[in-house]
Amino acid sequence: MSQETRKFEAEVAQVLHLVTHSLYSHKEIFLRELISNASDACDKLRFEALADASLTADDADLRIQISWDPDARTISVRDNGIGMSREDVVANIGTIASSGTRRYLEALSGEQKADARLIGQFGVGFYSAFVVADRVTVITRRAGQPTGSGVRWESDGKGEYSLEDQNVTERGTTVVLHLKEGEDEFLKRWQLRSLVTKYSDHVAFPIRMPQEKDGKPDPTDFETINSASALWSRSKSEISDDEYKNFYKALGHDFNDPLAWTHNRVEGSQSFTTLLYVPEQPPFDLMMGGRDERKGLKLYIKRVFIMDAAEELLPNYLRFVRGVIDADDLPLNVSREILQQNRQLEKIKAACVKRVLDLLDKLSRDEPEKFVTFLNSFGNTLKEGIVEDASNRERIAKLLRFASTKGEGAQKTVSFDDYMGRMAVGQDAIWYVTADSYAAAAGSPQLEALKAKGIEVLLMFDRVDEWMLGYLNEYDGKRLRNVAKGEFPLDEADKAKQEAASAEAAPLLERAKTLLGERVSDVRVSARLTDSPSCLALADFEMAPHLARLLREAGQ
Ligand code: ADP
Ligand code: MG
Repeated sequence: MSQETRKFEAEVAQVLHLVTHSLYSHKEIFLRELISNASDACDKLRFEALADASLTADDADLRIQISWDPDARTISVRDNGIGMSREDVVANIGTIASSGTRRYLEALSGEQKADARLIGQFGVGFYSAFVVADRVTVITRRAGQPTGSGVRWESDGKGEYSLEDQNVTERGTTVVLHLKEGEDEFLKRWQLRSLVTKYSDHVAFPIRMPQEKDGKPDPTDFETINSASALWSRSKSEISDDEYKNFYKALGHDFNDPLAWTHNRVEGSQSFTTLLYVPEQPPFDLMMGGRDERKGLKLYIKRVFIMDAAEELLPNYLRFVRGVIDADDLPLNVSREILQQNRQLEKIKAACVKRVLDLLDKLSRDEPEKFVTFLNSFGNTLKEGIVEDASNRERIAKLLRFASTKGEGAQKTVSFDDYMGRMAVGQDAIWYVTADSYAAAAGSPQLEALKAKGIEVLLMFDRVDEWMLGYLNEYDGKRLRNVAKGEFPLDEADKAKQEAASAEAAPLLERAKTLLGERVSDVRVSARLTDSPSCLALADFEMAPHLARLLREAGQ
């Protein structure tokens, strides 16, 4: 089975088509994606070599090399990382075995247009090579396998690829791009070099390039062109904002700057470093509600990449956070199973949560505009924390913002603290109303009496609100109360008025009760209303009608 030609799975062909057409305005990111794969391959080998040192015995200096050939019009990216066997090649490039490809397609079949932002996130980075190349060759051999087990993969990115056995003397992978007409700008050393600086400077392995001699690369004279340091391990004062931002972009495969970050080193019985970022916009899978396969939080142990461990290191409601955690004292041979029960890790997780909440708190005070951006992107995700994280409930609640009868229309600007700061004398509760839209909340007849008394009511109309409020009974010692539920607070004058009104309306109430029968549990004269003739009210323990409807729609 030395030589064969295979077809891409239909979905791959489709993804290829989309990627090459949608990425065009950002075509230079192919280099970032290929370097990122090379770096991943080095990470993987370093990790495997922990258990089997013979894998790197012959050549322990993991590195990435970039070269160009003006005559052949090719660029090559080579790494001496883990490499691929024939089966690996077939599985990793050419099928949709990588679930990322499938999810990418699913995502795109919705209303979303193909968006360059998504490419890296969905693990289709390799295909970006076809944005600038009309033919791509991959020559690779898996570490630890004999030289004869090498493979040559080649494709024009249209529908088929070929596979061939080949002797490959050095382990690792070389990707060769045969550039399309008109892409000659990438054949210049300074251009490649500046792209590396722009997108890949932080990569933790040396990226080397030959010097130029008579317009051609000189294979005898290589220079390292990135800083090749683990950014997070340097001291804060030595890192510029741009370095932080670039590191984030590569880590999160994002084109946008991060909104904020926090970088900390904890020394003590257990030492670790955290560098955590809050993005500006939700990554695509978050918008899709996808929770499986959370990526973007990398666990290192003494600078050795161990695994993506977002699920182990952050609670679900902080799933938008990206970053790196580098622990000094964990055993290097940890597995996911061990991680899940590791006590040290529990501490690190708690520290990460604290860092993120501190960061958000600071943002809310010092950079309110950015904080608004944050809430627009992740406010509803954060609300899940009220339910999920009882120990930080109050801190999370402090960060939330709502529309209110004393706020700015539908805009969510009022915090619980704002509310408390202008509570009426003797007011003993924080009042809110829930509905399924701003208009329904703001127009609710149940607000009338409170409005008339000048009491502020928070207007809650996001899907998660009702669920969240089920877990948030008080804030800073004040009870949270739904205006639609339970007894209403009356002063003495009001009470007398209501008793008189009840007596007067007794025949009407009786008649309404008979007419409505089973559908209501009681009909009463209400203190809630000033203008409207009637409204529905719930007992304290009852579910709001729109929530009941939502649950019914969801088939529960
Ligand atoms: P992702 O990197 O998100 O997994 P890519 O499309 O960039 O998605 O790469 C697909 C897969 O191809 C990788 O997961 C990896 O298994 C394999 N691969 C790509 N480049 C290399 C490389 N240089 N060395 C080893 N494996 C590679
Ligand atoms: Mg990749």
